Amino acid sequence: MKKLTSYLLCLCFILSVFCICPEAEAETLTVYHGDGSQAVICAESLSEYTNNGWYTAPVVTIYTIDDVSSVVYKSDAQIHLSNGWFDAPVVKIYKPNGETSIVYKSDADIHLSEGWYMSPADFPKKVKAVALTFDDGPSRYTPQILDCLQRYNAKATFFVVGNCASTYPDTLLRAYNMGMEIGNHTLNHPKLTSISSSSVSYQLNTTADIIENITGARPYLVRPPYGSYNSNVLKTANAPFILWSIDTLDWKTRNAQKTVNSVLSNVKDGDIILMHDLYGSTAEATEIIVPALIERGFDLVTVSELAERKGTDLSVPTAHSRFK
Ligand SMILES: [Zn+2]
Repeated sequence: MKKLTSYLLCLCFILSVFCICPEAEAETLTVYHGDGSQAVICAESLSEYTNNGWYTAPVVTIYTIDDVSSVVYKSDAQIHLSNGWFDAPVVKIYKPNGETSIVYKSDADIHLSEGWYMSPADFPKKVKAVALTFDDGPSRYTPQILDCLQRYNAKATFFVVGNCASTYPDTLLRAYNMGMEIGNHTLNHPKLTSISSSSVSYQLNTTADIIENITGARPYLVRPPYGSYNSNVLKTANAPFILWSIDTLDWKTRNAQKTVNSVLSNVKDGDIILMHDLYGSTAEATEIIVPALIERGFDLVTVSELAERKGTDLSVPTAHSRFK
């Protein structure tokens, strides 16, 4: 008897929720669920369904690279898919040569067996890497350097001067969109140890604002002009200062071959190489240096990636000249 009562209660519940239409001629419609199922219901109970994850047109679940999911109408899916959403869960994967790719999570294992990694931190430690850095731009020579980096799928870091970023916003945006790292090299290149703390803040914040307005991302690496800093400057900036271990003196020699030699005769794993994207000779040298380093087994990566690979924490405001 008890069993029968609970059965009847259950039936009542089902009838009340899923509504058997009282009259044969009652209007029905089809509703769709995010899990792919569909049901025919009577029109008057529509709100019960729409409040419980059902929709009046076919829907699909879409995903972002950050694991956010959303249910959208199938008819709108194409718009979302062309705006950075995916039709199944995805992950970003990495190769030691700087290549990245976004793949379906369900296929990740296949890629991991083909030389891809879930994170740069997983790269085999024997892989040598260096960070090419270019200061004082962007300039009219920067696109030639970007073309070269693009050709070899290499990455570099550009420490830009705020005023130059304002002059060449398209070049800066291109560099950022190519996966280059953008760092802060002040607004107009003063020696930070010779100006007040408030001026240091102004120089760095204004430049960070300019870069963020152009790329959408706020830079956190700082390269102090002339490599000049002290503990006060570091404290005021409250950011990692990136110096260098190979100074090509490209600004002084303006000679492509000398710039090439200064890199190739000194380079070792973990180096940060200083150049300036202000000169035609540096662009020319880059076209020789990039393939030569790759040929010698170096990965050309951003400063942040080099730090990550070498296990250096960049969230602390200290100065680095190379990563070991
Ligand atoms: Zn500089």
